[in-house]
Amino acid sequence: EGGGLARELRDQFPGVRDWHYLDTAATAQKPQVVLDAMMRAGGEDYATVHRGVYARSANMTLAYEAARRRVAEFIGGREDEIVFVRGATEAINLVAHSFPRKGRILLSQLEHHSNIVPWQLAGYEIDVCPLTPDGCIDLDAAEAMLTKDHVLVAFAHVSNVLGSVLDAKRAAALAHKVGAKLLLDGCQAVPRLPVDVAELDCDYYVFSGHKLYGPTGIGALWGRKELLDTMPPYQGGGSMIDRVTFEKTTYAPAPTRFEAGTPAIVEVMGLRAAIDYVEAIGLDAIHAHEAELVRQTREALRSINSITLYGPEDAAGIVSFSMEGVHPHDIGTILDEEGVAIRAGHHCAQPLMEHLGLPATARASFGIYNDESDVAALVRGLERVKRIFG
Ligand code: PMP
Repeated sequence: EGGGLARELRDQFPGVRDWHYLDTAATAQKPQVVLDAMMRAGGEDYATVHRGVYARSANMTLAYEAARRRVAEFIGGREDEIVFVRGATEAINLVAHSFPRKGRILLSQLEHHSNIVPWQLAGYEIDVCPLTPDGCIDLDAAEAMLTKDHVLVAFAHVSNVLGSVLDAKRAAALAHKVGAKLLLDGCQAVPRLPVDVAELDCDYYVFSGHKLYGPTGIGALWGRKELLDTMPPYQGGGSMIDRVTFEKTTYAPAPTRFEAGTPAIVEVMGLRAAIDYVEAIGLDAIHAHEAELVRQTREALRSINSITLYGPEDAAGIVSFSMEGVHPHDIGTILDEEGVAIRAGHHCAQPLMEHLGLPATARASFGIYNDESDVAALVRGLERVKRIFG
């Protein structure tokens, strides 16, 4: 039943009390345990990592490396395969810069700009996989398009606009059949589904902490060790080296090679706390909870005749829609007056908007703190929008 999770949990989130927050796909609110962990890490436990000879720094280093193990465990990789980055955006820029083979890649029509622009900047030739009518990446089309010239396929595991879930295992098999690697953009997947990179058989997996109920400024890149080992550094600086002379510098092995400079120590501790938090609830329970809210929302919005819904029926936690004759920004503004926060815009997916033939959509996205009262508030708000514009 849709509200079961949220009623227990909502009070643990200072950011959502008395607010119908339906913009978790943009960024998730943080539970008190995450805020507390960051306060401790930045206060009584604070010291640098990997450098100090004093006990506090040695302890912080242990905690930092334990957090890396925790991230690895969370997505089914090995600890020496986890690179801490600022977020998914930095992770994809890193791979686009350092991936050992340049050439043709396959993206999809629904990608977030952060899974398009880095590849353009790095000079790849891009092919675009179309979507099925209900807004999933069309893997039959991908199969027909992939050739031996493709070095990489990079797809969203879950679309941030449509909530469509990729059949990632099949995508991996198709990529590998032509000798290409598969990168999955897991930003919207890790907060909504259990993820196991070994089972998915992908080659890279990226996500951002702030969409997983953790802090901004931290995320992770997982890559197969044998791939990371062939990749040159992305940025230079402290920590990422083996030995530096003015004549020649050698680099630390992965993942340290990709972590130049003092890392986001406090944010790493926050991310760890967030992972502990969501795992204690369970990703299966979270997925079921959000699936029920999506079902309720789609059913309710379908009964408002001027609304068009996008994306598949079984979308993960996200519902995009438009209302005839009303700009999504006006929907967002009127809903805000009702205490309902949704996103209105292109969602950093302009090629997808072009495909849908729209300048923008309205998007409601759910988190573990939402329940049917949020769906009801959304529906009430939309009925008011309809009255105002009708
Ligand atoms: N990919 C997807 C699917 C996303 O939803 C987002 C965030 N909207 C990103 C990538 C980029 O994440 P960040 O801005 O945290 O780097």
